Amino acid sequence: MIGNGFDVIVAGGGPAGATAATLLAQHGHSVLLAERSAEPQEKVGESLMPATYWTFERLGVLDRMRESGFPNKGSVQFYTPDGRPTAPFYFKEVDPHESSHTWQVLRSEFDQMLLDNAAEHGVDVRRGMSLREVIFDGDRAIGARLQSGGESLELPCKVLVDATGQSHFLASKRQIRKIEPHLKNMSYYTRYRGAERGEGIDEGATVIFHTDEGKSWFWYIPLPDDQMSVGVVGPVDYMVKGRAGDPEQVFHEELARCEPLQRKLANAERVKPMKAIRDFSYHSSQATGDGWVLVGDACGFIDPIYSSGVFLALKSGEMAADSIHEALVAGDLSRERLASFEPEYREGVEAMRKLVYAFYDPDFHFTTFLKRHPNCRGQLIDLLMGNVYRKPVGELIEALDEWVKPPEPARESSASAV
Ligand SMILES: Cc1cc2nc3c(=O)[nH]c(=O)nc-3n(C[C@H](O)[C@H](O)[C@H](O)COP(=O)(O)OP(=O)(O)OC[C@H]3O[C@@H](n4cnc5c(N)ncnc54)[C@H](O)[C@@H]3O)c2cc1C
Repeated sequence: MIGNGFDVIVAGGGPAGATAATLLAQHGHSVLLAERSAEPQEKVGESLMPATYWTFERLGVLDRMRESGFPNKGSVQFYTPDGRPTAPFYFKEVDPHESSHTWQVLRSEFDQMLLDNAAEHGVDVRRGMSLREVIFDGDRAIGARLQSGGESLELPCKVLVDATGQSHFLASKRQIRKIEPHLKNMSYYTRYRGAERGEGIDEGATVIFHTDEGKSWFWYIPLPDDQMSVGVVGPVDYMVKGRAGDPEQVFHEELARCEPLQRKLANAERVKPMKAIRDFSYHSSQATGDGWVLVGDACGFIDPIYSSGVFLALKSGEMAADSIHEALVAGDLSRERLASFEPEYREGVEAMRKLVYAFYDPDFHFTTFLKRHPNCRGQLIDLLMGNVYRKPVGELIEALDEWVKPPEPARESSASAV
């Protein structure tokens, strides 16, 4: 047994859960963090956005990041379907500060570092412990049933934070998860050693390659130990239909459609098995309820194209923690109170989502767009950095209206509890 209960129980020990837990402990609340996996896991989500810097600062992990040995990411570059590269988008162009570069991380090490930091801030971190059930009194979450080894325990809490990532525990149970209708993508991914790297500031750059007909794209992310994370993303229909269903074959067929990437991998050797992931783009129509909050992928995930996932996981963890703290201090754990972070958070997500939809529009190209809107270059780089909560990006968002109108995200009003 681990005490009589906690102010907050956080389920899931990825970046979202670790951030929410650490900041709530910093605010002085008792927090249990239950992470299902007994050991650190390899995960996708290796390329960070520079705007993660500010959450790292609040968490007190900047020094650990600086000393980590993770490659420095100072830019992102895109290749068009006809194999031409855009000029790199250097982050320091808009913000010549330490926060204008970031890191390419090994998630097993990165996630563990955030969990160690949470424990050092007083969070009761339990690995190998799963959330099995959220206990409700009417519509209010009042505790959790957790499983650890053979032991099942029920613990009361004032607020339950669901940070279970793509398991989206509560969103599935409450049927508030909405699939992104036009982003039904999937990915096959692996790692190489000895792939070509840029030099100097370009050494840690993320590179995105379209395949020749623009139907799929590859990410190219430099990792420690001379490893390169390489993954292909495309619509499920395209990647699966009419093919034998062998991930190796699909990956190599797409690679054959991408000459610039073939050149970069010419002297590289594969060092990891092929993995697959699909059905990852969705949002929850409700991020909070009475006594509960969703953060990170448990609340939603847009698409991997701009590497916004970990940034939004950290940011939602941070914003939710402040909201929960204020609600705990006020003694009001209603949905209305806990949701105080939601409008601002959703606005930033929507800005990212618009640029994602632009990327998948066959008529949209960064170079053409910037020729027509040269004044938007700074805001475009800001968006690629994740600076949606610190700087205005309205001019860019308006200019993107010419190209795309993403479907309105579904929202439950507070009156229509599910
Ligand atoms: C193909 C692809 C490529 C991507 N590439 C990038 C990228 O380059 N950069 C980037 O920033 N993002 C990327 N992402 C997104 C990124 O991986 C996620 O957005 C990010 O990991 C979300 O963090 P999180 O803390 O919400 O969830 P996670 O990191 O998934 O953590 C959730 C945790 O909850 C635990 N858990 C699950 N169920 C339970 C339970 N019942 N009880 C207890 N614990 C539980 C899991 O074990 C896990 O550790 C990518 C995503 C995809 C699909």
